[in-house]
Amino acid sequence: MQFSTRAIHSGGIGESQYGDVIPPIHLTSIYAFPEPGVTQAGFEYIRYGNPTRAALESCIANLENAPEDCPALCFSSGQAAIDAAFRLLRPGDHLLVARDVYGGTVRVTEEILRPMGVEVSYAVATDTEQFCASLRPNTRMVWLESPSNPLLTITDIPAIVQASHANGTLVGVDSTFATPFFQKPLEWGVDIVMHSTTKYLGGHSDLLGGVLVVRDLALRKQFHEIQKITGAVASPFDAWLTLRGVRTLAVRMKAHESNAFQVAQWLEQHPKVSRVYYPGLPSHPQHEVAKRTMRGYGGMVGFDVVGGETEARCILKSTRVFLLAGSLGGVESIISYPPLMSHTALSHEERLERGIRDSFLRLSVGLEDAEDQIADLEQALANL
Ligand SMILES: *Cc1c(COP(=O)(O)O)cnc(C)c1O
Repeated sequence: MQFSTRAIHSGGIGESQYGDVIPPIHLTSIYAFPEPGVTQAGFEYIRYGNPTRAALESCIANLENAPEDCPALCFSSGQAAIDAAFRLLRPGDHLLVARDVYGGTVRVTEEILRPMGVEVSYAVATDTEQFCASLRPNTRMVWLESPSNPLLTITDIPAIVQASHANGTLVGVDSTFATPFFQKPLEWGVDIVMHSTTKYLGGHSDLLGGVLVVRDLALRKQFHEIQKITGAVASPFDAWLTLRGVRTLAVRMKAHESNAFQVAQWLEQHPKVSRVYYPGLPSHPQHEVAKRTMRGYGGMVGFDVVGGETEARCILKSTRVFLLAGSLGGVESIISYPPLMSHTALSHEERLERGIRDSFLRLSVGLEDAEDQIADLEQALANL
C-alpha cells in the first residue's frame, strides 16, 4: 500500500473490541493479570507499554519501512529519544557527530556524554570523504541530521552508512526535517532513525514527543529496556494526538513543500535578500544529493537579508502571517532568528564559522495560502 493509505490504516484502526475507528486513548497505568506473570494482551504497566502508544509505534514504523515485527519506540520528547539512542555508548567509545545538528543534541553530547567519558568529535557531514576519514577504530556511533538545522545542508547518508558499517559503526539519523514522507533512512541501511514528533509528525504545535525507529530486533529490545528503565515514554494523550497528526502527514507535507518552494523562489529574486537556503533550489550546494536521495525537499527555508542584525530584527517585527516563535512543523508559519534564538550558545565567531550569519532568518513555511505568506514577507522586506 502507498504512504497515505498506510498512514491512515495502520495503528489500531477499528481494532478495539468496540470497533472504534479512531484508536481510543487508553488512560490506564496498570492492567489486570489473569494470573501472576501472565498478561491479557501483552500490557502490564504504562511505562513498559500502552495500547495508544503501541498504535503510534506501529504506524510510524510502517511509514519508515521498518520490518513488520519491529515497532518504533515513542518517547516523551525528541530530546529523550536522542538521549536513549546515546545510552548505547560507554566510556571510551567514540561518537562522531555531524557538525550542523540541533542545538539540543550538542547539549547532550557536551553536557552528558563527554563528562561521562565518551569521546565526542564533530565533522562537517556535507564533505563525505572528510567525514568518513574522521571515523576511528573505537567509533561506536555516527550521528547525522539531514536536512540540518538551521542551514538545511544535505548529507549523502548512503555513502556515510557504507563507510561506517565497514568500520563496525552504528549510524543514527535525526530525520525530523524530512519526515518519513520525504526520506526513509532505514532503506539505506541506517540503524537508528530519530524524529522529534513535536514537529511535522504531530504537525499542529500542540504536543511534545520523540521517536526512534530501528530495523534490528536486538537493537529494538535494547532501546525498549532503556525506555523501561529510564521511563521517558510518550503519554497516552500525546501518543493519540501524534497519531492523529500522522494520519494527514502526506497531504500536509505536500502542501508545506509546495508553499516552501514558492516562498524560496520568490525570496531568491528579491533584491533585499542576498541568499536563500532551500534544498529544492538548483542554487543549493547539495541540491544534487537531495535530488538523488530524497523524495522531496520539505517545508523549511532559510535566507539572508541584505544587512545584518538590525535588518533581521526589522523583519521579525513586521511579519504577521509568520509568527516569531522557536519551533517548526506546525500548520502555522513561523519565523525565527537562530543567532539570538536556537544558536545563542555559540559565540559570534563560532556561528560565522558555521555559516550562520547575523542576517540569517529561518522560516517554517506553514499551510496558509502561499499568496498570503509571500505578501507578508513582501511587506516586511518593504519596511527595510
Ligand atoms: C526539536 C528538535 C529536536 C528536539 O526535539 P524535542 O521534541 O523538542 O525534544 C531534535 N532534533 C531536531 C532536528 C529538532 O527540530
